[in-house]
Amino acid sequence: MPGVPPVVTPDPAPASAFIALGANLGALRATLEAALAELAAWPGIRVTAVSSAWHSAPVGCEGPDYLNAVAAIETTLTPLALLDALQAIEQRHGRERPFVNAPRTLDLDLLLYNDQQIRTERLTVPHPRLQERAFVVLPLLELAPTLVLPGLGPLSHYEASVRDQALTRTPEPLAPPHSG
Ligand code: ADP
Ligand code: MG
Repeated sequence: MPGVPPVVTPDPAPASAFIALGANLGALRATLEAALAELAAWPGIRVTAVSSAWHSAPVGCEGPDYLNAVAAIETTLTPLALLDALQAIEQRHGRERPFVNAPRTLDLDLLLYNDQQIRTERLTVPHPRLQERAFVVLPLLELAPTLVLPGLGPLSHYEASVRDQALTRTPEPLAPPHSG
């Protein structure tokens, strides 16, 4: 009896995305490393690279300095499911939103998702004004020096205009997450 050909539904190719991590309350480095580990352990997310950690002064608010980094991921999650994951991880770190730009224990932003441009009530991608923020542009350039931002052109074109923002690269890399 001839065998029935197997029905193979190939998994869709994972999307490539970039996540910005920031913290300015509590144990900054430990928080970013924990968030990276939680991202890596999330079903459907693989962390493929992590930038240096950068110190920056807060933008648009008072408060202690931030520690920032960017992670490159591959994911089978949709953009909204990925946002759900980021917000769930923020909540685990006690994130509250008392007012816009308030100090936060952990901020996770979806910077880019493939070359998609998304504009819904919950989600704007590329992340609004990412090209104006040194704490995003410089770590992202470390990971993807030739990246082209959808609708905005080459990321490297924005380096000069953010260079006056106070940002310091820390020599000590963040502990890499174990892949999950
Ligand atoms: P911000 O990061 O701008 O300082 P929040 O982290 O409090 O502020 O996010 C406010 C809202 O921004 C969230 O409720 C979320 O729905 C929305 N948002 C829109 N686009 C994005 C994105 N690309 N990444 C993360 N949040 C986003
Ligand atoms: Mg945010």
